[in-house]
Amino acid sequence: MINKMKLPYAYDALEPHIDAQTVEIHYEKHHQTYADNLNKALESHPDHKDKSLEELVKGYKELPSELQTVVRNNGGGVYNHDIYWAIMSPDARKEPEGKLKEAIEKKWGSLDEFKAEFKKKALGQFGSGWAWLVKDGDGVDIVSTPNQDNPITDGKEPLLGIDVWEHAYYLKYQNKRADYVDSWWEVLDWAKVEERM
Ligand code: MN
Repeated sequence: MINKMKLPYAYDALEPHIDAQTVEIHYEKHHQTYADNLNKALESHPDHKDKSLEELVKGYKELPSELQTVVRNNGGGVYNHDIYWAIMSPDARKEPEGKLKEAIEKKWGSLDEFKAEFKKKALGQFGSGWAWLVKDGDGVDIVSTPNQDNPITDGKEPLLGIDVWEHAYYLKYQNKRADYVDSWWEVLDWAKVEERM
């Protein structure tokens, strides 16, 4: 049985950047549905029931063919949202420090330049998906994934990720994905991201 993470703050904690209604529906309905669908599928595959969520998402291509799509979409859905909620905070530290700061500056020159590149990737993801900062070998990189795919399946460790499905921002931002991305930095907690390094 795979459970989604417990939301570490109240629905309205990320206001005004992410509104309470969006957090409630996103966490209680979308995230829960991914967990329910995953668990339902695993019930009929007892051989795979004891795997961790990370193992399932990382290695979904090795699963029996009838499990692959459901784990890719719903296992990925649970895993991605677990990361998303965990790296946001109402009292976010706004800048990286230490090794992560060094890695970002080495790759992009500055935090602002990284944010500009990340925004391009988030806006360039056609339709539903995610943009990620990943650990790739010794360095860091930006990637985007469609739907609920996660870079861990390609051997890259996700450090932070923004959900750019419309359900993540439409109530407050409507079609303005760029405004959501800009605002998201206010609740992204670099201290939580560093814990994932
Ligand atoms: Mn979502």
